[in-house]
Formats: sequence, C-alpha cells, structure tokens
Amino acid sequence: MSSVRTLYLATWVVPITRPPFRRGGIVVEGERIIAVGGEAELRAQFPEAAVRDFGGAALLPGLVNVHAHLELTAFRGMLEDLPFVKWLVALTRLREGLSAEDVRESARAGILEALRSGQTTIVDVGATGAGFDALCESGVRGLFFQEVFGPRPEDAEESVRGLIERLQPLRAHPCAFTRVGVGISPHAPYTVSARLFRQAVEYARAHALPLCVHIAESQAEVEFVRHGRGEFARIYERRGLLWRAPGVSPIRYLHDLGVLAARPLLVHGVHVDEEDIALIAHSGAAIAYCPKSNAKLGHGVAPLPEWVRAGIAVGVGTDSVASNNACDLLEEARFGLLVQRAHRASPTLLSAETVLRLLTLGGARALSLESRIGSLEPGKEADFIAIDLSGAHVQPVEDPVTAIVFSARASDVCFTAVGGRVLFDGTSVTTLDEERVRARLREVRARLRHRDALLGD
Ligand SMILES: [Zn+2]
Repeated sequence: MSSVRTLYLATWVVPITRPPFRRGGIVVEGERIIAVGGEAELRAQFPEAAVRDFGGAALLPGLVNVHAHLELTAFRGMLEDLPFVKWLVALTRLREGLSAEDVRESARAGILEALRSGQTTIVDVGATGAGFDALCESGVRGLFFQEVFGPRPEDAEESVRGLIERLQPLRAHPCAFTRVGVGISPHAPYTVSARLFRQAVEYARAHALPLCVHIAESQAEVEFVRHGRGEFARIYERRGLLWRAPGVSPIRYLHDLGVLAARPLLVHGVHVDEEDIALIAHSGAAIAYCPKSNAKLGHGVAPLPEWVRAGIAVGVGTDSVASNNACDLLEEARFGLLVQRAHRASPTLLSAETVLRLLTLGGARALSLESRIGSLEPGKEADFIAIDLSGAHVQPVEDPVTAIVFSARASDVCFTAVGGRVLFDGTSVTTLDEERVRARLREVRARLRHRDALLGD
C-alpha cells in the first residue's frame, strides 16, 4: 500500500533467530520488515527512511499469547480461592449475568491490557464472537476459537448446528481473511461428549479449521476420564448425565477419538505421562503452557522441559484473568521459568533465551505462523515491540534477553505494532477509546455485583 519506509532504532535488537546485538534496528515498509541490522548500515542503505529511535529500549518481535479468554476480563478478582470445579460453576453463573454488549466490552478491556503489554498475536477462546470482534477492531493479529459445549451425546447434532451458526458470520467477516483466523474449540472432556468431539473434529477437518481443546488440566479431569470418579462424575450424576469412563488418560482419550490426528492446540496438559507426551509429539499437536493459571487453581506444574525435549511446538498463554489475574506474557514467562526451576530444584533448567523464544517464535510455531511472525527478519510481518530497559528495576543491562525475561515489566513496553501499524504508542492504545472502555468495564462490573447480591451470594 505505502512505500514509506521507517527505520526503528534502539540500543538493543533481539531478532530471536539470531543473537541479540547493540545499536541497530529494523526497517519497515508497509506491513513488512524489509531489513534488520546495525544503525550505520541501515542509515546508509535507507537514507530516505523516517527514523524513530527508542533510545535505551530493546526491539523484538511481538509477543504471542497462545491462550486467552478475553470475554472473561470483567471477572478479574471475582473468583478467588475456589477449588477448580467450584470455580468453573461460579464462572458459568457469572457468565450468565453478562449481556452480549457486556461481553464485548469485557473483551475490549482485555485487548487494552494485551496491547499495552506487547502482545501482537492473541489466541482467544470464547463462547460468543465478542473476542473475535475485539480482535478485529483493535488491529491485533489473532485466532479466535468458537467454543462448543455438550455433555449429552444425543445433543451433539444440535450443538454442531449451533456451532456452525455462530461460525458463519465470523468466517464471512473481512477480518477473517487477513488478520484474525477462526477455529473451533470443543471445550473439554467433562463438558463435551465423545460423539460431539468426533463431530466437531469432522467439521473442522472438512472446513480446514484449526482446533483447540482444554485437556489434562486438573486431577479431577484425570479421575473422571480414567476412572469415572470424582467431582465431575458427581456433577454428571446429579444432572442425570451418562458417562462411561474410557479408562485411559485424557490425552489417550483424545487420540482414540481422532482429535489428536487433527493437530489441535492443546491447552494446559499438566497431567500427562511419558506415553501421552509421545502421542502428542507424534501427532504434531501443539501445547499452550499456562503456568500461572495452573498454579493459581492448584493444578500443578506442567512438564514443559519434557515437551520441549520431545520437539512439541509450545507457546505461552495467559489463560483468562479470571484465573491469572493478569494478561501479561512477560510475567507469565518469568513465572513459568522460575516455577520449573523451583519444582525440579534446578538452577540451570530452561534459559531466559528458551523462554523468550517460546513467547515469540515458539508461539508462532504452535499456530503454524512461524513463516510470517515470531522473529525480526526481512520478509516477515512487521509485528514488533519496544521494551524500555532504562528503568531502575532493569539497569544495568548485561544481556537484553536476561533483562527482558527476569527484570522487565509489562509497563516497560513502550511500543506495539502489528503489520506495521502502531497499536500502542507508549501513551495509549491507538485503535480503542481507552477511557470509554475502562468506564464501560466498571459499569459491567457494577451490574455483575448487583446481580450477584440479588442472587444471594
Ligand atoms: Zn482456557
């Protein structure tokens, strides 16, 4: 579209696919990066380019959040210290209190936080298309998974019909052909019958749609799938739902249903054994590592080192702020690394470099987007961010990767661009009215509180 070139410079450049270097930058033309290199070289090669210098910052590819639920942003801080199943039930009840417009406002508020913390690609899972709309209007890159639920096998056809109805307007939206992909997410083994899983996979394969499943998240889920026992079994009993436990691990169950063969994005995977990891690796499925959500809900520590060793494509996800309570990938990565070292009593397990790669190129690979995003390289989409490394909590900087992973904060992100378009300029998000979004979020929360009080909570 435009042949205007801009040279973005900073003290540090962290391309991911090559070692970081000092005093350099990238040249962006239209939606793409056309050059990466040292300042002198780029100035000489592109003398006509407009220059934007970020001073003591690091330039790096935008962060890829492979698992979020933007529409749940309004529930931040409302679901504290609950056992998982109670948390799920309370979440479902809260959700019923939101109008379609409330859900949209909630999703918009989530996007503000994501853009301000340097996320340039967001994988959102939602029951309504609100997340899709928010991704589209904000200018961020994304993938929206339409959720489908249905524990009764006899309801499977109807659930798929409902799914198709919800998908149609999303898939026809102009945004779906450019920045925001659409996929489907049969939620989890305890909310989706085997029959619905099979039909959803069949539909996804017939229409070449990506697939996402929450799996092996909790011990309760393992108990339910392996032995037909525990809290989920009791809920099924109370609701008169039939459940024949397949008697295998959740991952083996997905394999046996043909879900793994569709190479889904698996969310969580905390409770997996060696055989499960081999099945995932063999299938080519990817995993969303959500360490803070897993820790906060008391699910445990996922075997990230084993996944990486098995060659599985892994990205990092924040999950929803109803279980996190932040949509901040820098914090997620730092926690995700430290919890592994603490858990295995190893000071050398996983490097800052490995984790930063998961946040960028790893996440891109988990979404099969690694040829387009995830690193600073000529030809790639200009999805990039600047993180200010001049703060007292970061200085002095020895290595920018160590500084970013172990010291920097979301509030140090001072620039976010997607496809060359500036979405956060260090002061405000350029595509959304932040004041209005925040005010609306407060209204949504007030209504939720009021309704909760009426329900006698
Ligand atoms: Zn989730």
